[in-house]
Amino acid sequence: MPITNTTYAFPIDGEFRRIHRGPILANWQKAAHAKGFTIVGRAVSHEHLVLGCKTCGSPTLKRVSVVRDHNPECPHCIRTRRENAAAGYGATLLGPDPKGKRHYGLYELPCGHTDRRQHKRVETAAAGGHKLGCGVCLKARHAAEAEAQGWQLIGKAERKDVGYRRYEHECGHLQDVTIANMRHGDVDCAGCGESWTCKPSKIYLLRFNLPEFPVTKLGYSNNPEFRMRQVQYDPLVTQGAVIRDIPVPTGHQAVRIEKALHSFIAASWPDLLVPPDNFEPHLRTISEIYDRRAEAFVSDLFDAVVAGWDPSSGTPPF
Ligand SMILES: [Zn+2]
Ligand SMILES: [Zn+2]
Ligand SMILES: [Zn+2]
Repeated sequence: MPITNTTYAFPIDGEFRRIHRGPILANWQKAAHAKGFTIVGRAVSHEHLVLGCKTCGSPTLKRVSVVRDHNPECPHCIRTRRENAAAGYGATLLGPDPKGKRHYGLYELPCGHTDRRQHKRVETAAAGGHKLGCGVCLKARHAAEAEAQGWQLIGKAERKDVGYRRYEHECGHLQDVTIANMRHGDVDCAGCGESWTCKPSKIYLLRFNLPEFPVTKLGYSNNPEFRMRQVQYDPLVTQGAVIRDIPVPTGHQAVRIEKALHSFIAASWPDLLVPPDNFEPHLRTISEIYDRRAEAFVSDLFDAVVAGWDPSSGTPPF
């Protein structure tokens, strides 16, 4: 851009602006100073001033009325603040919102996907307020969870319920299922009649480190890894692990064995039961949590089940 006597020699908010000749009134300058700026000159029209930000030194164009009567903000300081917030979260502010909304920007999220986000939400996320979910990653996760169960994620559910998605079964039948039920394989196909209760399942033993003490969870699922991750509010705190699982031919049998094991433990070693108050702040479950000391004992019960013991038979395992 040429330096002329009609244009400022430096960009103002990214553009080379026309000089407007005229006095700078003392009350404008006083107002600007009080609000963190110095008036550098006049530009574009008699209604505009060029301000220099006292914080970052950058020039910015503002209306006289804004300087005089309102609280002018420095767009360069705001941009820096947003860039820093994004960086603190592992994201990058790429530029303004492609849809032109003032409160939104285009961000590269920590996962590498690019999406529009409200600036304020990025700043709250950086301050630890909440997470910035990624729609693409979420969809990929739901698709993978469905695939693990022999279903394919098609998209939005036909029914109007945010918890549901539409899936296609291996047999070709389409059906609405809740995301949570699909994750755990708790889904019966209305097309071919395949029922989760007839599909192979597992009895599992999980370990979680509660802040006060470690605990053990006994349960059934066709996917103990998923179950272990899903049951934790904050995996960084509880650091769940699958200690062991044993295969059971059907979900139906798994329910029966699991229930019988719980009754057996409750009758034999009731003091191993952990009261819900101790684990409810950390785990999404309401019962079936045992003291860590139960681990070896339950593992022995698993061995007995594998060897053919039926925990509902009433006979002792060893
Ligand atoms: Zn500034
Ligand atoms: Zn993503
Ligand atoms: Zn089917």
